[in-house]
Amino acid sequence: MQGLKNRHVLITGGAGGIGSATAARFLEEGARVVLMDEDQTACRLVEEALPSLEPSILADVSDADSVEKAFIKLDALFNGLDILINNAGISVRNPFLDITPEQWQTVISVNLSGMFYVAQQAARRMLAGDGGVILNMGSTNGVMGYHYYADYNASKAGVIELTRSMALELGPKIRVNAVCPGFIMTPMQEAEYTPEMRRIFEEKLPLRRLGRPEDVAALFAFLASDEASFITGEYIVIDGGEIAGGLASQA
Ligand code: NAP
Repeated sequence: MQGLKNRHVLITGGAGGIGSATAARFLEEGARVVLMDEDQTACRLVEEALPSLEPSILADVSDADSVEKAFIKLDALFNGLDILINNAGISVRNPFLDITPEQWQTVISVNLSGMFYVAQQAARRMLAGDGGVILNMGSTNGVMGYHYYADYNASKAGVIELTRSMALELGPKIRVNAVCPGFIMTPMQEAEYTPEMRRIFEEKLPLRRLGRPEDVAALFAFLASDEASFITGEYIVIDGGEIAGGLASQA
């Protein structure tokens, strides 16, 4: 991809399945990459696997103070930020009527408020420098309704509208897009899905396979590169065709 070499890249939730694959991809592209995550042990494991990573920064993205302090550490590491992969997120499976106020608050705090806190810190630095690219992690759950994830679905729909609003106010110096994956087999989901569940998901998808973290990493790399220089304010679905025919509406 053009324009990624030596770029300064920050990946939140970078120690997770999609985040670590994205870190590997940006390192391959010659970028300088730092992870921001709350999971210290997982960060260490990713740093061992990818020794050219910068030292990770620990932060809870749902806590505005924690994010502010983390960006002060980032300032000491990088002189300016070029690319933010705003990826940290959580999901909890629960029927709508069983979602407690605490669960609702937790999911919205990480997936939507966290995205805002991190994006605002990043945007200030990009505007003070040469500009940049912000890529927010959405989901097909932000585009279609899905059973048992009402809080998660609402948070990801919010990410799409946040993305559009940011693109309007931050252009032309900053491009802002959202990436909306369908089923991506991260290590966590490998453990969660039974072989039968996996077979059913695969049969439903036009491309007859679940996504890989590397598929999403490739889309992040493209959208962050100069090759996507006329794309902003969009959400891009990457789902093997899952929602093309409304398949998501099935239980
Ligand atoms: P993952 O493997 O669980 O990675 C998420 C990472 O974010 C973990 O390291 C997690 O740490 C970290 N994190 C969670 N809450 C945080 C917080 N408050 N502050 C800082 N870091 C935090 O999940 P993933 O599948 O790679 O998902 C990454 C993103 O993709 C999420 O936003 C998710 O909603 C989105 N997504 C995933 C899929 C999919 O099928 N996998 C599909 C659509 C969208 P802990 O382990 O300590 O929680």
